[in-house]
Parts: sequence; C-alpha cells; structure tokens
Amino acid sequence: MKKIAILGATGSVGRQALDIIEKFPDRFKVTALTAHRSSDELLETAKRLGACYVGLTGCNGDLEFEKKVPKGMKAGFGIQGLVESCTAGNPDIVLIAVVGIAGLPPLIECLDRGIDVALANKESLVCGGHIVKQKQKTSKSELFPVDSELCAIYQCLNGVDTTGLRRIILTASGGPFFDWDKESIQKATVEQALCHPNWRMGKKITVDCATYMNKGLEIIEARWLFDVPPDKIDVVVHRQSIIHSMIEYNDGAVIAQLGPTDMRQPIQYAFGHPERLNSVVGHLDFTQLKTLTFDVPDTDKFPCLKHAQNAIRAGGAMPIIMNAANEAAVELFLEKKIAFGDIEKSVAFAMNKFSDLKANTLIEIYTTDKEVKDYVYHNI
Ligand code: NDP
Ligand code: MG
Repeated sequence: MKKIAILGATGSVGRQALDIIEKFPDRFKVTALTAHRSSDELLETAKRLGACYVGLTGCNGDLEFEKKVPKGMKAGFGIQGLVESCTAGNPDIVLIAVVGIAGLPPLIECLDRGIDVALANKESLVCGGHIVKQKQKTSKSELFPVDSELCAIYQCLNGVDTTGLRRIILTASGGPFFDWDKESIQKATVEQALCHPNWRMGKKITVDCATYMNKGLEIIEARWLFDVPPDKIDVVVHRQSIIHSMIEYNDGAVIAQLGPTDMRQPIQYAFGHPERLNSVVGHLDFTQLKTLTFDVPDTDKFPCLKHAQNAIRAGGAMPIIMNAANEAAVELFLEKKIAFGDIEKSVAFAMNKFSDLKANTLIEIYTTDKEVKDYVYHNI
C-alpha cells in the first residue's frame, strides 16, 4: 500500500489524482490533502478518503474550519500547512499540484526529507531548478515529472543518461490561437483564452498555453530535470497532442512517447512506478489516428516562448523574474484588468527592468518573486 499526499487536491490535477487513488483502493491510500480556499470540498474529500491531515493554504487560520475537522484529523494553514502536508502520516510520495511558485517550499521539504515527489507544478522548477539540482545530489528523493511532456521524456530516457542525445523535442498543442492573426490575439478575451482545444486544466495553465508561456516553462523544467542545455531543447507544434514528447539521438534515432490525451496517465505512471498499472483512461486506436501534424512554433505571434528561452539562457534570477511577471499578469488578465496582449508585454518589461535582481538562495528567490509581482500588480 503506497501512502500519498496530494497538494492542490481541489484542482484539475489534484482531482484526477484522487480519481486514480479511488480506482486502486488496495494500492493507494491518502495521507494529507491541501486546498487554497475550497475548504468544503477539501474536508468532504478528506473524510471520504480517510486523510489524517488537511492543509488550507489560503489563510493563516480559520476557527470555523477547525471546528468542522473530525477527531483524528489534523489541520494546518498557510505555507506551514503546505509544508506539514509533506510529512503528516509519512507519505511514500507527495503529489505537488498547487499552482505557481507556492510549489517550491513543499518541493524543497520533500528533497530535504528524502520523500519521493510526483511533480505537476512547473513554476517550482522554473524558479528553484538550480537549488533543486544541487539538493538532488544528496537527497534520497526520486522526482517523477507529472507534466505530460516531461513525463514523456522521462519515459523515453528510461534511466539512461543523456550521452549521445542530440535533442529533446517537446510537443505543443498550439493552444486556442494557433491559426489566429497577431492583432486578434492581442485582443483575445478571457473566455477565448480559456477554451483549450485538447486539455481541460486549471485557469492559469490554460492561459499559459494560449500565450505559449507554458511551453517556455516546460523548456526550463526539462533543462533542470534532465540536465540538458537549453539549446538542445526544441519545440514542435503537434495539434493532436497524441505524441507527448520525443528524444532524438545523434545517430538519428527518435524515441517518442504516445498515449491518450489524459493527465491521469502520467499521474498513474508516477504513483505506480516502477510498476505499470492497468490504464484507467483507455488505449490509443491507431487506425483512428488519421493525421499527425507538426509545425514550427510562431514566436512572432507568441513571443513568450522566446522570452522563456532567453530567460533560461541568461540564467541567474531571470527565470524567476519572467515567471513572477507572468503569474501576476495572468492573474490580472483573468480578473479582466488587462488585455491578453499585456501578459507578454508585462513579461518583456519585467525582464528588461529587473535584470539586476538576485536568486542564489531561497530567500532571494522569494524576495525577487515578490518585488516583480508587486511591480506588475501596481504598474501594469
Ligand atoms: P488548478 O488551478 O486547477 O488547481 C490548483 C490547486 O492548487 C487547487 O487545489 C487550489 O486550491 C490550489 N492552490 C491555488 N493557489 C494556491 C496557492 N497560492 N498556494 C497553494 N495552493 C494553491 O491548477 P492545475 O491543477 O491545472 O495545475 C496545478 C499545477 O500543475 C500547475 O503548476 C500547472 O502548471 C501544473 N500542470 C497542470 C496540468 C493540468 O492538466 N491541469 C498539466 C501539467 C502541469 P483551491 O481550489 O482552493 O483554489
Ligand atoms: Mg505540459
């Protein structure tokens, strides 16, 4: 019986992870669950699955909530609640499926304590990849990427080192604005940006897909997860999202991972590892796949991809600055306070303005993140 903590249990990835756990009741058991504000759903799920700990991260205390927590279950709040969830009930693996840089403290906690991680959250690696890499040298933790493209590369590499690797090829769906003209994209509405052609996901990542920042974040994830230089990580637009990503060796051999377009596949891979559990999402029928298309990403229409490539090449604090500006601008866009085109402009502006900030330590990362976000909230 594997014991699993789910951080971000009320979100898109979190709920799909709970579905996997409920489909394999004799293999998986929940320890802790967290949510940011969805306290009713959090408690209801925690009771149903017998969790021993609930973390409500959007506040630093809530007496009403505490009164509803049953005997034998503990409650925690804020960042502390998130970090305590990594150890409460001694989980074998922690799924980090919260959104934004909030994923970094629990990731560090797991690495420090030697607990395995199923990592859906990408912003933690984008901001803290250099520290994570350093900690992995001595940590007993295994890191299983849950982001479908990164999980695909993990499976393609299959534990073999990257000697002889020519490049990693990340596939991108192209998002909702693939065939829109540049001017129309600038004025896209929230409803249009949230209309992803292939995946149903949380709002932030869905907007990131529309700007292509999501693929930029994945380049940075891949750089840290697989220790591959950024110029060996390419992106190809593959509208069908059937090939989840590929690797190419120097001799021209390409290894790809294909599968149903369903996040439960990479989640069950991470939970079941090293075993391959029976699919809960069905299987590909190749006779029904009439066309698989491949296009060059258009960085003129979607400059966020270029910004991310520049950020990881520049190194230092630049990926944190880029990520912070993006997180803040996406929030403002979802609140209908800025236009879709302003997201990219905010990112470009912040990368230009804040080039001298530092990010060598965790404290410096959080300070840089806050400074850039505050600027975007008040000046864009
Ligand atoms: P959702 O917005 O659907 O869910 C986010 C979850 O985290 C919710 O449980 C939410 O609680 C909680 N949360 C929100 N803000 C915070 C915060 N500041 N601190 C702690 N917890 C918070 O997101 P997704 O499930 O779509 O994505 C989660 C992560 O996984 C992201 O980093 C995303 O990029 C990555 N990812 C997602 C994929 C997907 O298919 N959805 C695919 C690949 C990667 P509440 O409900 O109370 O707000
Ligand atoms: Mg992805």
